[in-house]
Amino acid sequence: MTLAPVHIIGGGLAGSEAAWQIARRGIPAILHEMRPDRTTEAHKTDRLAELVCSNSFRSDDRETNAVGLLHEELRRAGSLIMQMADAHQVPAGAALAVDREGFAEAITETVAADPLITVQRGEVAGLPPADWDKVIVATGPLTSPALAAAIQHLTGTEALAFFDAIAPIIHFDTIDMDIAWFQSRYDKVGPGGTGRDYINCPLDKPQYEAFVDALLAGEQHKHHDWEKVPYFEGCLPIEVMARRGRETLRHGPMKPVGLTNPHDPDRKPYAVVQLRQDNALGTLYNMVGFQTELRYGVQADIFRMIPGLGEAQFARLGGLHRNTFLDSPKLLDGTLRLKADPRLRFAGQITGCEGYVESTAIGLLAGRFAAAERLSETVTIPPETTAFGAILAHITGGHLAANEPGRRSFQPMNVNFGLFPPIEVSKPAGRKLPGPERGKVRKRALSTRALADLDGWLALPAADAAE
Ligand SMILES: Cc1cc2nc3c(=O)[nH]c(=O)nc-3n(C[C@H](O)[C@H](O)[C@H](O)COP(=O)(O)OP(=O)(O)OC[C@H]3O[C@@H](n4cnc5c(N)ncnc54)[C@H](O)[C@@H]3O)c2cc1C
Repeated sequence: MTLAPVHIIGGGLAGSEAAWQIARRGIPAILHEMRPDRTTEAHKTDRLAELVCSNSFRSDDRETNAVGLLHEELRRAGSLIMQMADAHQVPAGAALAVDREGFAEAITETVAADPLITVQRGEVAGLPPADWDKVIVATGPLTSPALAAAIQHLTGTEALAFFDAIAPIIHFDTIDMDIAWFQSRYDKVGPGGTGRDYINCPLDKPQYEAFVDALLAGEQHKHHDWEKVPYFEGCLPIEVMARRGRETLRHGPMKPVGLTNPHDPDRKPYAVVQLRQDNALGTLYNMVGFQTELRYGVQADIFRMIPGLGEAQFARLGGLHRNTFLDSPKLLDGTLRLKADPRLRFAGQITGCEGYVESTAIGLLAGRFAAAERLSETVTIPPETTAFGAILAHITGGHLAANEPGRRSFQPMNVNFGLFPPIEVSKPAGRKLPGPERGKVRKRALSTRALADLDGWLALPAADAAE
């Protein structure tokens, strides 16, 4: 039997993963990617699954970290993106970070070589033609304006938009290693690390105070009226953090804990800037947590105030980006289809998840759901106790607004254990565990439950939709 193809718009993380999952079920997939004909503000290449900013997939700890758990769920579900991330890992302590070039190239080649996937280059500049009966829209936070306008028109609502900021990247050979040193926080080795995966730059109190003063005085990108939108709390620019209080950075990306300066072991740094390897060669390092919207002209001068970075050369400076996402709880059904036009299913960051791993996970689910539909099988969603199910439920259900009982609100979110249904954890007899230990016990229990439930979901036999 020849099956009609599923069309996927957007060859990013979500779209590539969705196409891969569809092809695994023996169904043809046509992946439409607008680059290189037309590009976005952030993409630099024509590769599929290009990582536009950090090269980190965040923690790979599947026992006590929700994103590490999501990694494991993706691996068990046969994710192409995770397979390639594992194959192109660079040292990053407890985090999973990748060589961005090798990673995207491998995905582009693997997808192009799949006999069931056709990659078509070119923008889909409006709603898909009527004869595309099954479509996944995975065009990401930088969806082309023409398609965004068409979706906005169809849904009859304002597409929400806000801005995130990205962190600078520095050439390694311009970092002064007589001042900086290699060490992972608490010497954590992690899955692919050495315990010496980060470069640390120490600041004493006067240096920190001068740095904060410079940030506060630094000239920022001037917003146009249409840009006046709130930031995503998990990705605040450093100067915005500095404006919240002089100590905020010291308790955030510049915290000095778990590190000892071998050049001056008896003196505790007052603050530390960390840099993480950005490419397999180890020639580039990104400034961890240093997203910024300072003007290009002032960024280099301010960052060169950091000890060890006095002569730093920047491969890329920080900047701003657009993020477009749907009011998904209102617009999408439980399997990510647009209520107003169910032939359209959405995936990736445009659904209002946040991050590379979450976008990949929603791409994987959308691909599996579309494939089941094409094969006339019942679409079964993952249990809410799994990381897949928790993030899907957030997208399609939103959460209750804190101070307005009964009202649901929706903001993009990374996966976190707060999205999981609570679990009862039995207390160890005779001894009261301290808070952090109790937290770890609870997270381990949530992860164990998630993986058992995920295995059950993955093993479900396909059921005929008509049954
Ligand atoms: C500047 C920037 C920095 C970010 N930094 C991070 C970070 O550090 N860590 C993190 O986890 N997440 C980050 N994000 C979020 C990140 O983009 C997403 O997590 C992830 O890339 C989303 O995957 P996606 O597949 O949904 O979208 P994308 O990866 O953006 O893929 C969408 C694809 O659709 C294509 N496309 C768009 N419109 C059309 C059209 N009309 N027709 C055909 N093709 C189209 C685009 O060219 C693109 O290839 C950042 C986002 C931006 C914009």
